[in-house]
Amino acid sequence: MTASRTGVWLSWCRSLEGFVLCVILQALRTTLCLARLWQFFRTSLRCTFTAHDFAPRQEDFSIVVNLGSFLNKKLKKMDTVIDAHNLVKIYDEKTIPVYALNNVHLLIEKGEFTAIKGPSGSGKTTLLNMIGGLDTPTSGYVKINGINITALKGSELIEFRLRNIGFVFQAYNLIPVLTAEENIEFILLLQKVPAKERERRVKELLMQVGIADKANKRPSELSGGQQQRVAVARALAPKPQFILADEPTANLDSVSAGNLLDRMAQLNKEENMTFIFSTHDQRVIERARRVITLEDGRIVKDTAPTSMVHAE
Ligand code: ADP
Ligand code: MG
Repeated sequence: MTASRTGVWLSWCRSLEGFVLCVILQALRTTLCLARLWQFFRTSLRCTFTAHDFAPRQEDFSIVVNLGSFLNKKLKKMDTVIDAHNLVKIYDEKTIPVYALNNVHLLIEKGEFTAIKGPSGSGKTTLLNMIGGLDTPTSGYVKINGINITALKGSELIEFRLRNIGFVFQAYNLIPVLTAEENIEFILLLQKVPAKERERRVKELLMQVGIADKANKRPSELSGGQQQRVAVARALAPKPQFILADEPTANLDSVSAGNLLDRMAQLNKEENMTFIFSTHDQRVIERARRVITLEDGRIVKDTAPTSMVHAE
């Protein structure tokens, strides 16, 4: 057994779950060895066997490792990025209350490409605002990587948002007097990233979203699709945990929407970036790997999470 294999076993054994897993895995290996032994006895009268025939094989090890990592992931929920728990948002509580969100539970795993759909007024924007810490729920909480952001206040929350969450808004929200590259660099400046690193990151991001040739253009000189790509690059700049996009294609023609979705799907696939969209655009819904349907502030349908399958 190599050093790295030994390391895997040792790290599992340190936790209770790991111990249980080790017992299960050892039982499985023992079964495999017994099966091979049984095969030997059945055929020993006809064939000559060597010690090699009883040695554990690479396939045995692969089976137990794969099974082990699957069970381990299930037990520890290792890849959960967002945990929204029992979210309720009531507007106009003192007059005629509007339940914008009503007992919403939602888990999002790393690498998801998920659409939240629903008719206008169903609570999509409210849900994204809660997940992104732009607004606070009336009750319930949101945890991002285990941190309860609903409990964060003031500068702590702003700092957390800046470092962990990328926003893409329907109306792009670019700063009109800044060029495309300056709009992206601005976020890195807020993060106090050094000048050389800023320059490198901005170039890389403009390339990633496919508008490197528009670096010096102001928003008014760019098409809707190009502006939205700048907005995506800006959202990606701080290397966030995930991107929240509120109706990102609502103002785009079908070619621009298709191009934008291609870029986002590519980032999802190549960089395992997590995307959550609110939308009622069928073009976005068709590309999503998970579709959550909201109605009157409640989740009424949720296709199975398929975080291991990336967008195409
Ligand atoms: P969607 O994004 O699906 O169109 P919203 O989340 O914007 O839905 O709105 C959900 C409900 O909450 C709607 O009934 C809307 O009128 C209400 N709502 C949203 N924001 C406010 C607000 N700031 N004040 C009062 N009611 C609001
Ligand atoms: Mg909305």
